[in-house]
Amino acid sequence: MRVNAQFTEAEAEALGRYFTNLDRPVFALRNLPEVVKGALFSRYSRTEKSLRRVLLDEFINEPESGFERLAGGPASTDDDMVAVRRAEEFYERVLVGYGDDSVAELAGAHVAVEEASILAAKALEDSRIGISPLEKSTRYVRFDRPGRDGRYLYHRGLELRHSDYEPAADALFATYSRLVEPVTSAIREKFPQEEGESDRAWKSATRAKALDLLRGLLPAGTLTNLGLFGNGRAFEYLITKMAAHELPECRQLATDLHRELSLVIPAFVRRALDEKYGRPSAERIAGVRDAMASLARRGEPAATTPAVRLVEFDPDAERKVVQAALFPNSNLPLGEQAGDPGTVLDTLFAGRANRRQRAPRALEHAQYLFEITANFGAYRDLHRHRMLTQDRQSLGTALGYDLPPGLEELGLGGDFASAVEAAATAHDRLERDLGAALAQYVVPIAFHVRWYFRANLREVFHLCELRTTPQGHPEYRWVAQQMFLRVQEVHPRLAGYARFVDLGERDELERRASERRMDEKLQALDRKVR
Ligand SMILES: Cc1cc2nc3c(=O)[nH]c(=O)nc-3n(C[C@H](O)[C@H](O)[C@H](O)COP(=O)(O)OP(=O)(O)OC[C@H]3O[C@@H](n4cnc5c(N)ncnc54)[C@H](O)[C@@H]3O)c2cc1C
Repeated sequence: MRVNAQFTEAEAEALGRYFTNLDRPVFALRNLPEVVKGALFSRYSRTEKSLRRVLLDEFINEPESGFERLAGGPASTDDDMVAVRRAEEFYERVLVGYGDDSVAELAGAHVAVEEASILAAKALEDSRIGISPLEKSTRYVRFDRPGRDGRYLYHRGLELRHSDYEPAADALFATYSRLVEPVTSAIREKFPQEEGESDRAWKSATRAKALDLLRGLLPAGTLTNLGLFGNGRAFEYLITKMAAHELPECRQLATDLHRELSLVIPAFVRRALDEKYGRPSAERIAGVRDAMASLARRGEPAATTPAVRLVEFDPDAERKVVQAALFPNSNLPLGEQAGDPGTVLDTLFAGRANRRQRAPRALEHAQYLFEITANFGAYRDLHRHRMLTQDRQSLGTALGYDLPPGLEELGLGGDFASAVEAAATAHDRLERDLGAALAQYVVPIAFHVRWYFRANLREVFHLCELRTTPQGHPEYRWVAQQMFLRVQEVHPRLAGYARFVDLGERDELERRASERRMDEKLQALDRKVR
């Protein structure tokens, strides 16, 4: 019997658990291994059948496919290994002949990376397309809790064997640890609980502020945890890049990631470290890096205050944005589009009520190059923006560091300063003996680093509107404000439409309003449950 135009009752029963519906043209896939989902999608390009029919004909009813084993219920470890092997065979059978590289984007995986240094986390998060990371926050989590061995959590690889490394890192953590309680108490005194504010909200906001003030003490070798969700193709490239990295920790992570991803999406990461593609590619990346290092000029940089410089912009940007905005609404070539900029831009931005209503694509026709010098903590936050081109220089101590003004006000700046200056001395010795790359591990993230962003105006709107909200960390807020001011100086009319950039100065509990909103949400949920 047919339950709908397409499937018999038996077929519908077989398919039901794999799709969110069997009778509508839009449906989601569920309860299927990644490799099967990838293989199914890849068939769209070579068959007139619907996806549900492909699953039935080519997998479920095809004993040779190994589907039963692959998609079966909970499996033992041995079964898993069999399933993985079959997934490989299955993928080969289905895709050989008509798969291309983009097929590897059709399946994804979640990977957790724990106890990686901040430096390694930055390398993992450097991918811009196809990977979404989330990392342990220095604002919500104390970083001085010891590990299982009772020691502070920072990277201790054999490559870092040097008599100055551990004492310097330990001293930074000890200062952080010693300051957490007095700084929190001082913040609570400065920002007493307000009427109507819950204990939870006040305590969270004040603790977050204290941890924000102290994060600069953490060395770049501090261990963090992160989760990555990404597609197979992005992971393949990430593994190859990590294998080429200058830090041994990152090279080890390439091996670890490859091993674990091979257990869940083997077919998609097979080339990442193989002898034909992956290894030669990694060797080439490393070789070019070394060769480039011998070509680049080096000097003796001096300590500097944070700065955001607009290095390049397009004086003709406004005309290009207007032209691009008119283009899809016209039947004439790009060159023949022209309009009154004020009228066109007013129309384009009419009714934009909040920053989540995205700025239009036409803004991507205006490009800016920023060179930024700010502390590594701020870099670490802003580095996570992906719709731009960016790169950084090695983290060192020559460009100086930031002593958080909030800490100085509380009279607790002295301890912070002596700890980071002692670490700078250790850094110089590590740099001399182990080289600049490894010496980065001991540098507290209060130290400045130089990087560039080449971004279009649409991303500038996104980044500056998001990163200037009052709950943001003051250090990255300042960078985002400066980026915006530089754009405003050269393109005042275009910048004027970024209505949700907050240029205000604050001396407040950044998380206070957010925590209050969270209380309201919790109360609303409570009411719903009751
Ligand atoms: C107040 C605050 C607190 C934060 N706390 C944490 C934290 O505790 N831990 C942490 O790890 N991070 C934290 N972040 C960082 C945050 O998760 C983002 O990584 C970061 O803000 C980059 O923003 P984005 O993804 O919106 O922007 P971009 O990467 O610049 O991208 C621009 C826009 O493009 C789109 N886009 C880009 N890439 C993708 C993609 N792969 N998939 C879908 N859409 C995409 C999105 O619409 C995105 O908004 C925090 C950020 C803020 C502002």
